[in-house]
Amino acid sequence: MRTHHLKVLKLTLAISTFALLGASTQQTAGQKPATPGGQQAKPEDTEVWEPVPKIVTPGATNDKPPSDAIILFDGKNLDQWVNTRDKSPAGWTVANGVMTVDKKAGNIETKRSFRSYQLHLEWRIPEEITGSGQARGNSGLFLASPGPGDAGYELQILDSYENKTYVNGQAGSVYKQYIPLVNAMKKPGEWQIYDVVWTAPVFKADGSVETPAHLTAFHNGVLIQNHVALKGETRYIGAPEYKKYDTAPIKLQAHGDPSPPISFRNIWVRELP
Ligand code: MG
Repeated sequence: MRTHHLKVLKLTLAISTFALLGASTQQTAGQKPATPGGQQAKPEDTEVWEPVPKIVTPGATNDKPPSDAIILFDGKNLDQWVNTRDKSPAGWTVANGVMTVDKKAGNIETKRSFRSYQLHLEWRIPEEITGSGQARGNSGLFLASPGPGDAGYELQILDSYENKTYVNGQAGSVYKQYIPLVNAMKKPGEWQIYDVVWTAPVFKADGSVETPAHLTAFHNGVLIQNHVALKGETRYIGAPEYKKYDTAPIKLQAHGDPSPPISFRNIWVRELP
């Protein structure tokens, strides 16, 4: 008897649901505009089924590399890096899963070259940092390094925790081009995270710019650069200027200031079309 009642109840529910669905579909359809040919527009008209996005397995947490990332530094060695000066093996030190700048060795850059990408990088100002202004934990993430020295496009790295300097040169600035939207700095001794989206510039055959480079950047999860259009390579002195390049390494700066060297860990990149 009980089973029978349940069956009846289920059937009644099913019929009611069907009726309701039918009614709502009719109602929605009734509100759709007719196409020029007089036919009713359908939801399917605006559905796109291809291309199907490829599957990427995310990291266990959002700081860990997803399955399609190229690992640039996982704490073990500098195999992915060379000295910018002469392309010899990168001369920075690796210990306890962390790489630390060696100012004598100079800038280092990736062996690989890139165009557009998403990049994750962690950096740490030493707790015992000294100095002030630009001479306090200065380094830099060069989003593209098409040349020697400090040539390229620098997202500034600096201790900007209670350290005054020109604002288009503080941490998170596109050096001397864009002030960061906010200062999201943690204290010296704590790890900082940069997550960036770099869209490479497009050049015409004659070397002039067709589309400028664009940067979106987060500092410790906080948006600091929102799709800014770069004015050219970042310059210490003078106006920024573009120089045609196709692909370029990613570079980390060994700044000459006398403050203790900073460290990096967990660097990975995902190439973008
Ligand atoms: Mg710098």
